[in-house]
Amino acid sequence: MVFIDIFFKQKKDQFLSLLLTISLLLLYSITYSQNGEKYLLKTIVIDAGHGGLDNGTSGKQSKEKDIALSISLKLGNLIKENIPGVNVIYTRDTDVFIPLNERADIANKNKADLFISIHCNGNPNSYASGTETYAMGLHKTDGNLEVAKIENSAILFEEDYSTKYEGFDPNSAESYIIFKFLQNTFLQQSLNYASFVQDQFETRAQRKNRGVKQAGFLVLWKTTMPSVLIEVGFLTNPKEELFLVSNEGQDYIASAIYRAFKDYKSMIEEKSHFASKIETPDTIVDNINDENSVNISPVSFKVQIASARNPISFDSEYFKGISNIEEYKIDNIYKYTVGSSADYNEMVILKKTIEDKFPDAFIIAIENSGKQLSLTEAFKLVNQ
Ligand SMILES: [Zn+2]
Repeated sequence: MVFIDIFFKQKKDQFLSLLLTISLLLLYSITYSQNGEKYLLKTIVIDAGHGGLDNGTSGKQSKEKDIALSISLKLGNLIKENIPGVNVIYTRDTDVFIPLNERADIANKNKADLFISIHCNGNPNSYASGTETYAMGLHKTDGNLEVAKIENSAILFEEDYSTKYEGFDPNSAESYIIFKFLQNTFLQQSLNYASFVQDQFETRAQRKNRGVKQAGFLVLWKTTMPSVLIEVGFLTNPKEELFLVSNEGQDYIASAIYRAFKDYKSMIEEKSHFASKIETPDTIVDNINDENSVNISPVSFKVQIASARNPISFDSEYFKGISNIEEYKIDNIYKYTVGSSADYNEMVILKKTIEDKFPDAFIIAIENSGKQLSLTEAFKLVNQ
């Protein structure tokens, strides 16, 4: 630490010093992070669309529920066989009906790092063909809205769907306005994975690439991790249906989604090095902050690890091994946080790295004035 202090006093060139600071910071966080562990993508939930009494889209000889299940199992096997450290969880591995909200629950309860919902497309125009991968959001075209309407209609098989989905009517365009205001925390990561999938569909499986899209899918709505819905092709297109019912075709599709998963896993784990600042010495952080920082965000996300009516000493046993703790007194409650970033996702990763020690940690947003904001308010500010 002393070495770093002296080192920076000697440097006059600010730009060079910033570069060195960043490399030191990186080196420091990799070498000396709290538990020496980097973020690892550990759990994936694979959701085969439809099932049981809900067939999904039908082709001339096939049902969506069967093809989605077959591809899901193939994908899960590829991951289990080739990436042993990853826990594969299926929302269904037989022909059963599972309500959409329960599918998201399964992913949330298992603290999944990625949720993949697999579906087949349908269209009155039998020439429509190709693959598309969706992240949660407001549709940009009527075509995307139609896909979401068809997939969301699965809830009509559920009892009491109106209460369960807060009055959502899958067939009414007005219902979809909620997705305009919904803040999708994991959008960037979901879009990253979606684009890997589409790339692989094109190169590995030689499928027509209809692109990465967004629409309001109920199955993704309440997931608390990056999540995508993949339309692997049109059962209403006879040629594409032949490909999708074939064992070989399903292997290609599963292999493409698997390869995209591998790419995404590497990317996200590599990126997490940048976020493990928990043990960063103050001197280094100060040096970065001094550099006429650009784009100062109006709000910072932090991971709250404790709160109490009376102050807790930073030296207490409870905080052992954790440095750079911040204390905020908000509404007469002392709150203790670690980390700070304008990027919510960085805090998600940080939270995961300290989950063993602080299982109840959660993310809060603090305005520059020191006022705590709800996450919704914070996302609005950040997006302005
Ligand atoms: Zn479907």
